Amino acid sequence: MAEIAAPPQSQSKPLLGGKRPLAAHVSVYVFVIVPPLALLVAIPFAWGWGLGWHDVVLAVMFYVITCLGVTVGFHRYFTHGSFKTGRWVRIALAVTGSMAVQGPILHWVADHRRHHAFADREGDPHSPWLFGTGPAALLRGFWHAHLGWVLARELTNQRRFAPDLMADRDMRVVHRLFGPLTVATLALPAVLGGLLTWSGWGAVTAFFWAGLVRVAVLHHVTWSVNSICHMIGDRPFAARDRSTNVWPLAILSMGESWHNLHHADPTSARHGVRRGEIDISARVIRILELLRLAHDVRWPDAARISRFRKA
Ligand SMILES: [Zn+2]
Ligand SMILES: [Zn+2]
Repeated sequence: MAEIAAPPQSQSKPLLGGKRPLAAHVSVYVFVIVPPLALLVAIPFAWGWGLGWHDVVLAVMFYVITCLGVTVGFHRYFTHGSFKTGRWVRIALAVTGSMAVQGPILHWVADHRRHHAFADREGDPHSPWLFGTGPAALLRGFWHAHLGWVLARELTNQRRFAPDLMADRDMRVVHRLFGPLTVATLALPAVLGGLLTWSGWGAVTAFFWAGLVRVAVLHHVTWSVNSICHMIGDRPFAARDRSTNVWPLAILSMGESWHNLHHADPTSARHGVRRGEIDISARVIRILELLRLAHDVRWPDAARISRFRKA
């Protein structure tokens, strides 16, 4: 079985490392609940006049940039070390990933390394299988894996799961800038929308669609990898857990929903390895490699993939 490219983890250190400050805890609730409510309110209200081409273009642009910040940056690069890069690309990936508003980088990476270390067992921060296998237990498990775990106040111990990032001054700075980056990810679409339409109303609609709605949609796509991609779908590869490949989420998740292969081979830069499995994040890593912005990429080879295939 493959291991995670995390530094050696001392089993003597505790899993958890303190509680979130109250202000941060309240802001998690606000950012989880406000964006989907904004979407429901906005659709009938916007129909025909509150939604323009510039909103759509800005929403797609910010979705793509922040989604890749999470998939290529937070996930494949920082958590699993599936390629190497220089200082400025590293900072750019940390900043764009932070702008997805899924938590500061040290929290995100520590949670995700813990997820792989304990996948679908006691200690996994977001497994849907912790409550049993009956219908009620699975409903509760789905809620916990999708969103409930985000609302828990306990933090994963960063000293145990992300000491490499804690030792990096640049990453500590980006981590501390999570608040301002959250403001920026909402304010930038508004500013651009205002400039494109040269109107205050254009700024308001861009704030709604390319700010709040875009953050909400990406939240739920990412959380679906934690919930749906550990419950339903295909399991063509031998992973130690219940991870699955879910094709309908492949485009929106930019390849992250080929989650069964990912758990079988976590450091692989490509998750969609079989014919027809579109993996946009892997394409982007390949482009970075061609531009000499990424090196030592861990591409899967045929022999390695066949080792993980179920007989
Ligand atoms: Zn997983
Ligand atoms: Zn992973």
